[in-house]
Amino acid sequence: MRFANISGRLNLVTPSDVAVDVERASEGNFGARVQGAYERWDELIKTAEGLTESAGTPLAAIAPEDFGNPAPQPRQVFAIGLNYADHAAESNFAVPEEPPVFTKFATSLSKPYGTVVLPPGKVDWEVELVVVIGRGGHRIPAQEAWSRVAGVSVGQDLSERDRQRVGPAPQFSMGKSFPSFGPIGPLLVTPDEFDNPDDLELGCLINGEQMQKGKTADMIFPVPELIARLSAITPLLPGDVIFTGTPAGVGIGRTPQRFLAPGDELVSYVRGVGQMHHLMVTDH
Ligand code: ZN
Repeated sequence: MRFANISGRLNLVTPSDVAVDVERASEGNFGARVQGAYERWDELIKTAEGLTESAGTPLAAIAPEDFGNPAPQPRQVFAIGLNYADHAAESNFAVPEEPPVFTKFATSLSKPYGTVVLPPGKVDWEVELVVVIGRGGHRIPAQEAWSRVAGVSVGQDLSERDRQRVGPAPQFSMGKSFPSFGPIGPLLVTPDEFDNPDDLELGCLINGEQMQKGKTADMIFPVPELIARLSAITPLLPGDVIFTGTPAGVGIGRTPQRFLAPGDELVSYVRGVGQMHHLMVTDH
């Protein structure tokens, strides 16, 4: 199944690409609030099976700016660094024995179509598979992990490289948390939609030029392993977001280095999930 946040309301997206407003179609059995859906995820899936698309709206008729982040108010956001060997190498790091973990603060999360506001500095791109937790828990075994995932989406872990590395210890969470630095969307896709949810192609383009292209099968710590390792310490809550790391092809790893500039158009995709479009702007 697929879900979307349309004008702040929870929608089911049918196989024929029709958006069905869940609150209206379920006659109030389910609320419109998108983040609230994760609290009753198993019930939502059952309810959604019974919804008909008669009163729905074709996705193509919905304005891009009406799509919101499908996980708009998570209580916890986790992000994983250096989770692909080719990206660790271009960043001049060894392949990690432990996944480096940081957060993107909640105010950095944003919509799948719109603008990214560039602060002064070196803003880089990192396309990532985003995982949203359904049934959370503490100490989740890797074998059970996919059953605790509500769905996956496309994410960008935009990063200002100077801020990320300033000071006596790196500041990953700050360098990656400027407003609009965490777009997610447009759709949330349940793991059962994929033949193999551990092997998805992802990539991004700037002004039509392919910058990153990878596959999640190349993760050093695959999604089930990440969930096991994170939840071994921190209980995962319904609606929590995990940015799972980026493959090679970021700007700082290029020769010469390249960073985002006002007017650049960034397209980020995960095949079978969807794609996001963002225009780079500046407010300084
Ligand atoms: Zn990242």
